[in-house]
Amino acid sequence: MIIILKKDAPQEKVQELIRQFERQNIKIHESRGVQEYLIGLIGDTSHIDPEDIKSIDIVAQVKRIQEPYKKANRKFHPEDTVVDICGRKIGGGHFQVIAGPCSVESREQMISVAQAVQKSGAGLMRGGAFKPRTSPYAFQGLREEGLELLVEAKKATGMPIVTEIMDASHLPLFEQVDVIQVGARNMQNFELLKALGKVDKPILLKRGLSSTIDEWIMSAEYIMAGGNPNVILCERGIRTFETATRNTLDLSAIPILKQKTHLPVIVDPSHAAGIRSLIEPLSMAAIAVGADGLIIEVHNDPEKALCDGAQSLTPEAFDSTMEKIKKTVAFFGKGMD
Ligand code: PEP
Ligand code: MN
Repeated sequence: MIIILKKDAPQEKVQELIRQFERQNIKIHESRGVQEYLIGLIGDTSHIDPEDIKSIDIVAQVKRIQEPYKKANRKFHPEDTVVDICGRKIGGGHFQVIAGPCSVESREQMISVAQAVQKSGAGLMRGGAFKPRTSPYAFQGLREEGLELLVEAKKATGMPIVTEIMDASHLPLFEQVDVIQVGARNMQNFELLKALGKVDKPILLKRGLSSTIDEWIMSAEYIMAGGNPNVILCERGIRTFETATRNTLDLSAIPILKQKTHLPVIVDPSHAAGIRSLIEPLSMAAIAVGADGLIIEVHNDPEKALCDGAQSLTPEAFDSTMEKIKKTVAFFGKGMD
């Protein structure tokens, strides 16, 4: 971190600031030029908020040289993280498709969709039991019963399950869940992230509706700082002025994240687009820009779905999209083991 001081900064105040950093084991490099007077901070400055420093009266400007995240940073961990979910790998050349309904609705629905997506080549299944709905009057999910039905579908197919957690107090119910999803609305629920840092299960961290890439990485850092290194990032579209799609899929986030972090990155074309016909082209695009996987909503009867039917594929449409996904993944040199 570099602090540019005001030219007329009194020496005693500068020295007091320097002593304050030295007490935090930060080394100081002072440089007084004709044009500028600056001090360089050498050491771990991740706990220092540049905004706090900026508010000091002798400070003109503050520049961060190093990102405030260490554990998620590719600079300190150059090789890709490969997350292993019951033998199914994501990251480092391994590609996975997670598929299933937006929400778990019934035993028949869950088992039939799970069997269908497995047959088409999905590696993991999804299904929401606790649903974050904009309206309190909308279907909120089957909650505990939904989790039980997911586990039944897992027993019937052998597929690992991915489902969303809304509150840390629900963690004991997630014993049999293989990947815990943090939804867009909870990306900055820091107490939840801290609790998930103590869990020995991979976390699928969705991007917040209006979150920057750096804010998103900092949320991953929360989980990792707690001791859980298995974080998968999921781009699911962001809020923009565009109304033709439910959200705007930020495809450039994928190569940017690949440069900044070593974590696997997957794409959710369903919540990004909100429109069934866009799932296939957006999936192709996601693979082309380097995604390590996809999470796609599939429903046995989308027109009657209790949630997100308009963006859900039928099992037949999913099967045909999967054929293209498999070819595209192979074309870009990744494996779907
Ligand atoms: C979901 O995956 O069911 C979901 C609610 O997604 P998001 O948090 O991305 O809106
Ligand atoms: Mn959904």
